[in-house]
Amino acid sequence: MELNIKENPVYLSLLRQYTKNKILYPLKISWDITSRCNLNCFYCYKKYDLNKKELSIKELFYIVEQIKKIKPLEVTLGGGEPFLREEILDIIKSLKKADIWVYILTNGTLLTENLIKRLSNILRETDIIQISVDFLYHKQNKKTLKAKYFERKKLESLLKIIKKYNLKVYVNLTPTKYNYKEIIKIFSLCEEIGIQGFGCTPLVPLGGANLNLKVQPETLIKIEDELKNIPVKNCSYLGGITTIYDFIEVKKNNKNAKVKKIKNKVKNILSCTAGRYQLHIDESGNIYPCVFCMNKIYKVGNIFEKDLEYLWNNGDWGIFREGRDLSDTECESCLYFKDCLGGCPGISYNYYKKINKPDPRCPFNRNEKNNKRF
Ligand code: SF4
Ligand code: SF4
Repeated sequence: MELNIKENPVYLSLLRQYTKNKILYPLKISWDITSRCNLNCFYCYKKYDLNKKELSIKELFYIVEQIKKIKPLEVTLGGGEPFLREEILDIIKSLKKADIWVYILTNGTLLTENLIKRLSNILRETDIIQISVDFLYHKQNKKTLKAKYFERKKLESLLKIIKKYNLKVYVNLTPTKYNYKEIIKIFSLCEEIGIQGFGCTPLVPLGGANLNLKVQPETLIKIEDELKNIPVKNCSYLGGITTIYDFIEVKKNNKNAKVKKIKNKVKNILSCTAGRYQLHIDESGNIYPCVFCMNKIYKVGNIFEKDLEYLWNNGDWGIFREGRDLSDTECESCLYFKDCLGGCPGISYNYYKKINKPDPRCPFNRNEKNNKRF
């Protein structure tokens, strides 16, 4: 059974211990090492500024040293496309020397056999490469969608090479109206090749994401059920096809609907670790509580102005450490509050431009701005 960090026993036990003793610790750091990307996916939660100045090599390694000083359990390297920075191998080497787990988010397009071989000399069992695969068969949409696209054969051979070098790889997909019919096919391909994990990142109202592309909740729940019933030997489903809001919406529309899994969708202890057990560093060294909270209002500081350790201990982490005031919102009397806690503060702020608002994906909050569902 494959695990992502949020289910990893080491992570969980540390998190429980720290939560119980009210200790704040940056167990997880995500870092966008570049703002450049060689793709331009329509569902991406980031808006890229291609004219943004990249960090110098010296600056990149200054950040590496700052990270190593505060000893997180895991660092997620993303971007943009992180393999556009040729320093990535040295960055990973340096993190591995400090025994930090490394999780790499890539669109996979720049992975060659030579690069994979070099990675296999550096990465260990605890490290994961996550490749975004959103289409196998949508040839006709390739140009208009500008989405990550792998021909089945190309993808197969890439995944096989990664397997050959014994690297741990997860495939990730963002379900949209364009690709929901391919979810089972892509999962089955992963199982066939022996990929260890398959997960989804829900389409969220951030960055350039086109929210009209969200798939109906009933459909997503059906696909997830179907996928879970596929017998597997190799590939674990890591979750993410549905969110808690899909189940709530179905239940809201039909009181008799079977949505027994609502309670399992969000595990309380893990519901939001931003600013308390995780932080995010953007491509300019700005520090935020989480990758979904890259908003001026949530910026804690810049690593080139103040030490990361200083910012973690003395920065203003606002609602992420003090909590949100969700009184006078639907959350106050909500049956699901214990499981949802009002949802993601980053997504809420980005949508309403107000801090004390519940998650706009929640079907009870829809009349706040418009009636569109996410
Ligand atoms: S956002 Fe608020 S109202 Fe909506 S499900 Fe979560 S707790 Fe309930
Ligand atoms: S709920 Fe939102 S802010 Fe909190 S950890 Fe998740 S994505 Fe980040």
